Amino acid sequence: SPAVPLTDLDTDSLRAANARFQAAYDALAAQGLKLDLTRGKPSADQLDLSNELLRLPGDEYRDAAGTDLRNYGGALGLPELRAIFADALLVPPAQLLALGNASLTVMHDVIVQAILHGVPGGERPWGARTVSFLAPVPGYDRHFSICERYGIRLIPVPLNDDGPDIPTVRALLEADDSIVGMWCVPVYSNPSGAVYSKEVVRELVSLPAAPDFRLFWDNAYVVHHLTDERPTPIDVLGLAAEAGNPDRPLVFASTSKVTFPGAGVAFVGGSQANIDWLVRNMAVQSIGPDKINQLRHVRLLQDADGLAAHMEKHRAILEPKFQAVSEIFENRLAPHGGGRWTAPLGGYFVSLDVLDGAAERAVQLAAAAGIAVTPAGATFPYGDDPRDANIRIAPTFPRLDELRTALDGLCTAILLAESETLLAQRGDSE
Ligand code: PMP
Repeated sequence: SPAVPLTDLDTDSLRAANARFQAAYDALAAQGLKLDLTRGKPSADQLDLSNELLRLPGDEYRDAAGTDLRNYGGALGLPELRAIFADALLVPPAQLLALGNASLTVMHDVIVQAILHGVPGGERPWGARTVSFLAPVPGYDRHFSICERYGIRLIPVPLNDDGPDIPTVRALLEADDSIVGMWCVPVYSNPSGAVYSKEVVRELVSLPAAPDFRLFWDNAYVVHHLTDERPTPIDVLGLAAEAGNPDRPLVFASTSKVTFPGAGVAFVGGSQANIDWLVRNMAVQSIGPDKINQLRHVRLLQDADGLAAHMEKHRAILEPKFQAVSEIFENRLAPHGGGRWTAPLGGYFVSLDVLDGAAERAVQLAAAAGIAVTPAGATFPYGDDPRDANIRIAPTFPRLDELRTALDGLCTAILLAESETLLAQRGDSE
């Protein structure tokens, strides 16, 4: 029967719907599935796109300047590779470092060094007092984990379609001088896919804040388009300099979802003062990054156009998977008013809001039926989604047929969880 939103059903009809969802769920659970929608990893056929890396750079080991890359040194990273990503990130090559495998490591180390030593412009180390970060939500759990590990207080801020809610950010910055940082995934945010508008970016670099306030500008998905609709690249460093706060943004990125997450290159960019500070800190940690891996990446990607062409191959694999998410949610959830989800134009995730109070139960039911989903709450600081509504969908890793089966099963679990939740709210605990 053409469905009515669950919330509009009278209690008898809701009980009947719940019984149907329970039967569908029991049939699902009997299938003994073993599927995984948890982490945002590239699929094996995406990794295959970069298999040339396994053979590169052949017998070559010199950069364009003739430097022997087998040896120590070159702390800033290979100039040819920095030039390729400087273009995509709109950071001058001289202010962009190419480092080791993981941008998360760089973010982590920057925070630890800020705690121990302070950042340029700061009067004392962050560790000398209680400090806080703003966390647009829903957001990336590994960002939050760094702060949680080091006792940095996380303050959630709503993330709108065009970026963090600026009136909220402004009010918090005015009221609370413990705020020294903010997590930002400005392009195809994890998990909603939100893209920050230029107006929002202008506000973020301009709002009055402490001199040691830093935007952790994690541009992990800047080249990861899923459609022809491309956001206009935003020069965050230029806008920050214009606003008189050149040191505010620290730009991060990596090739994790361009080539191999297990053998890629991370980047960090910023003002000259920030770069000098980073290089000084790094000099104690390392006598230089893996420049042979960086050379491999230069040979594979060639230049900015080569990078863009490579990303188109990823898109060809990913687009049908994101279409499957939209299609299955539209068919299974929409008729029951069972959720709201994003249709990102790039990146790795879809953000799904189910009915308030039903997310944790839905994830639990899915897991019991053999479908692993990112824990409910993971997209919020301390794992605490106050509405218990948000679920992060990571559609990239499974094969398309497995993805469809997993999404369909997840919808079955969601509808059962929602009908249970609504019945419980109406005091019906049969
Ligand atoms: N930032 C964001 C927003 C991410 O989604 C991810 C991976 N899921 C990372 C950083 C991790 O990057 P890396 O592999 O360079 O550590």
